[in-house]
Amino acid sequence: MEEYDVMVRLLLLGEAGVGKSCIMQRFAGEPFQEAHVPTIGVDFKTRRLDKPKLSAKVQIWDTAGNRRYRVGCGFGGLFRGCQGVILIFDVSDRESFNNLRHCIRDVEGWRQGEPLMLLLLGNKADRAAYRVVSAEEALAFAESWNMLYLETSAKHNWNLQEAFEHSVEELARRQLGACA
Ligand code: GDP
Ligand code: MG
Repeated sequence: MEEYDVMVRLLLLGEAGVGKSCIMQRFAGEPFQEAHVPTIGVDFKTRRLDKPKLSAKVQIWDTAGNRRYRVGCGFGGLFRGCQGVILIFDVSDRESFNNLRHCIRDVEGWRQGEPLMLLLLGNKADRAAYRVVSAEEALAFAESWNMLYLETSAKHNWNLQEAFEHSVEELARRQLGACA
């Protein structure tokens, strides 16, 4: 039987096109895909994280379509088994940043006061010449919701292992801490 200390489920949320599917592929150790392949419905990948003091089985759920579609399709049900939500916007797309507050409102409705780990990723940080959301602005938003903020690039694999490990370690700390 497969052995691990904790099982963690993460949900990726953000507008269409911000890079959720590419980030999920990076989390799973797969190469970057330049061509946009629209996600159909929902998709998930499983990965292990093995550290000297922690082994975790991690399920990463990727969602498709825009927020309105997701809410209409009852993504709250998918959310129920998740201990962490990774919110993603595109630093070169102002609209994807503005829409985060709607995503958070959905999440707040779903979680109903239950503990939840939130992490904010500003993706496509490699598109420096096209950036329209500053790191300072994103950081201030993240702090107001008590989340960590990381700038990532799925294209160049910047900060994604960090984001993944942070999420898993933080959730493992909470789960194991609660059992101790
Ligand atoms: P999703 O709709 O949120 O799942 O977005 P995708 O993962 O399908 O990515 C949408 C498009 O953005 C694709 O053409 C990707 O190649 C591109 N993309 C994703 N991440 C990055 C990134 O970090 N940098 C750049 N330059 N392009 C990216
Ligand atoms: Mg996708």
